Amino acid sequence: MKTLKTIVSAAALTLSASSMAQSQPFDYNVDRFADIEVLRYQVPDFESLTLNQKRLVYYLTEAALWGRDILWDQNYKYNLPLRQMIEGVYSNYSGDRNSADFKAFENYLKQVEFANGIHHHYSMDKFTPGFSCEWLEAEVAKLGQGAWTPVQTEVMAAIFDPSVAAKRVNQAEGEDLILTSANNLYEGVTQQEVENFYAAKKDPNDATPVSYGLNARVTKKDGKVVEQIYKLDGLYSEAIARIVENLAKAMAYAENDNQRMTIARLIDYYTTGDLATFDDYSIRWTEDTASQVDFINGFIESYGDPLGMTGSWESIVNFKNIPASHRTEVLSQNAQWFENNSPVDPRFRKEAVKGVSAKVITAAILAGDSYPSTPIGINLPNANWIRAAHGSKSVTLENITQAYDEASHGNGFNEEFVIDAPTRELLDKYLFITDNLHTDLHECLGHGSGRLLPGVDPDALKAHGSTLEEARADLFALYYLADPKLVELGLLDNPDAYQAEYYKYILNGLMTQLMRIEPGKNIEEAHMRNRQLIAAWAFEHGKKNKVIELTKRGGKTYVKINDYRALRDLFGQLLGEIQRIKSEGDYAAGAALVEKYAVKVDPKLHKEVLNRYAKLDIAPYKGFVNPVYEAVTDDNGVITDVRVTYTEDYIPQMLRYSRDYSGLTK
Ligand code: ZN
Repeated sequence: MKTLKTIVSAAALTLSASSMAQSQPFDYNVDRFADIEVLRYQVPDFESLTLNQKRLVYYLTEAALWGRDILWDQNYKYNLPLRQMIEGVYSNYSGDRNSADFKAFENYLKQVEFANGIHHHYSMDKFTPGFSCEWLEAEVAKLGQGAWTPVQTEVMAAIFDPSVAAKRVNQAEGEDLILTSANNLYEGVTQQEVENFYAAKKDPNDATPVSYGLNARVTKKDGKVVEQIYKLDGLYSEAIARIVENLAKAMAYAENDNQRMTIARLIDYYTTGDLATFDDYSIRWTEDTASQVDFINGFIESYGDPLGMTGSWESIVNFKNIPASHRTEVLSQNAQWFENNSPVDPRFRKEAVKGVSAKVITAAILAGDSYPSTPIGINLPNANWIRAAHGSKSVTLENITQAYDEASHGNGFNEEFVIDAPTRELLDKYLFITDNLHTDLHECLGHGSGRLLPGVDPDALKAHGSTLEEARADLFALYYLADPKLVELGLLDNPDAYQAEYYKYILNGLMTQLMRIEPGKNIEEAHMRNRQLIAAWAFEHGKKNKVIELTKRGGKTYVKINDYRALRDLFGQLLGEIQRIKSEGDYAAGAALVEKYAVKVDPKLHKEVLNRYAKLDIAPYKGFVNPVYEAVTDDNGVITDVRVTYTEDYIPQMLRYSRDYSGLTK
C-alpha cells in the first residue's frame, strides 16, 4: 500500500534531518504543463555510501529502469506503439516549434509521458489532444516509415476518438468494471468470468493464500478463461530478462547473506512466475531489516486493476536515512501499545503485533508505477497473512517530502484557503513534522493494525477495499497524532501540534482536494475517496456540536474547527466502525459508507474551489525526474565509482529512457 501526497501548503522547513541545509541552492523546478509540475529531488548522503553499496544501488537502478515498458503496456495495450509514434514525431519535427499545433502536441506528449500512457495517472480519464488528426498524420508520414499499419490506425483512434478506451480504471458501481476499463490486464473477458475463474481457484480454508492474479493478464483461449503469466519466457519476457540480468549483478554486491538470498528469490520468481515463490521472497524481504540499501521491484500495488488483484510493475531503490529513522523506530518499538489502546473492539485487535519495521529512506531512483508521480510512504508486503505472521516493512520517503515542501514554499495556498493568521502560524510551525508523523503512523502502524475474524475473505470489500483500507490507516494515524503518548515518546514537543495536521486534513478532504476533479465529475481515486469519506463523515457527525463549520467570509468558504478534542473522538469512532467492517467483511456497510460520503461532490463548493485555486496557478499534481547515475569502470568493466548528477530535464530523460531501456519496443 502506498500513501500519496495530499494537496498541502508550504510548511515551515525543518531541515534537521538531512544535510540539505548546507548544500548549494538547489533548483527543484523542472517543468510545468497542464495540471502537472515536474520537480527534481536530491539524494543526500549518496556520497557517504560505501563503494559496494554504490555498486548495489547502481545495478538495482538499472533493474528498475528496464521495467518501464511493462507498465506502459499494462496501462493500455497501444501505449507503446503510441509512444514510439509521438516520440518519433517530436524528435524529428522540423517545422515551427512555436506553432499552435506543435505546442499542443508537445503538451500532449508531456502528459502522456507523465502518465505512462494516454490516461491521466490520477483521474484515469483519457487525455484530449489539442492538435488535429490531420496534423499528426502528416507528421507521421514525414517520418517515411511506409504504409499505415493496422496498429497505427488503432493508435490514431486511441488518441482522437473519445469513445475508444475512455477510462483506464472504472470503479463505477453496477457496471462491468473489466469491460469498461481500458487497462491491458484483461482481454475479452467479463467481470463475472474473471470472478468465477478466481473463485474456483481460491480455497476458503487456505490460511496462506497466494496473491491470485498478481502477475497475470487474464484472457480467453479456445473459449476458456486463462492466465498469461508475467515471467521469463512468458508475457513481458524481454523486459524481465533485462531486470533479472541486473538483479544478478546487484546480487554480487549484496550487503549480507539475507539480502543476497532475497534478491535470488526475486530472480526465481521472475523466472518461474510462481506466486508461492513471490511470497517466500516477500517474507525474506520483510525480514531483512539490517541492510541499509533496499528496493522494491515487481508487480506490487493493485490500484490499476478495478478488481484489485493484478500488480502494476514498479521499482524504487533507496537507502536508509539513519538519523531520521529514529522517529519510526520509536513508533515500531511501541507498536503493541498503540494496538492495545486503539479505539476498536478488542476482538478486532491483533494480540501480538509482529515486527512492524519502519524507517525513513532516501529514494535513489523511482520507476514504473512510482515514476514520475511517486508515493511519499509505502507499506509492504500487501498479503494479509504475511503481514500477520511476519509483519511488514514501512517507509517514508523523506527526500521526496522535502522536495515537495521546498518547492511549494510561498505559493500563496495558505493565504487563500486557511481561515486566519493563527491557524496559518500553526501550520507553518507544525505541519511538516505532523505530516511526516502522519505518514509514519499510517504506514508503520495503521495498515498493520487490526485483524480479520477467522474465515473472513480478505477481498470481501471488493471494489471498496482500497478506499476503506486507506481510511482505516489514515484514521489510525489521525487518532494517535493527538495522543499524549507522542509527546511522552519525544516525537512532538507540543501537545497541540496535531491540530496542524487535523486542520489540513479536513480542509483537504472537504475542499481543496476537489481542485483535482473536473467539474461535473465524481471522486474515483481510492485515496481521495478515503479523505473525503473521513472529512465528510466527521463534519456530519459533529454538526450538532459544531465541531467543524464551513463559514463564509467575504463570499469565500473556510473550514473552521471549533473543537479539536471532539474531532479526535469522531476519528476514533469512525476507526472503530471501519475496523469492524474490515474484520467482519461487512461489504454492505462498507459500500454504504463509501457511497454516502466518499464519492459525490457538492457542485457549488467544487466550482468555488476551482476558481480560487485557478488564481494561484499551482499545479494540482507533482512528480519527479530522476537523478542520473553514471558508473565509472576500470578496464575489466568493474565499477570503481558511481557519480550522481541532477541536470537532466524532463523530456530529455523520457526520450533517453525510451532509447536506452526499451524492454519491449525493440
Ligand atoms: Zn496507505
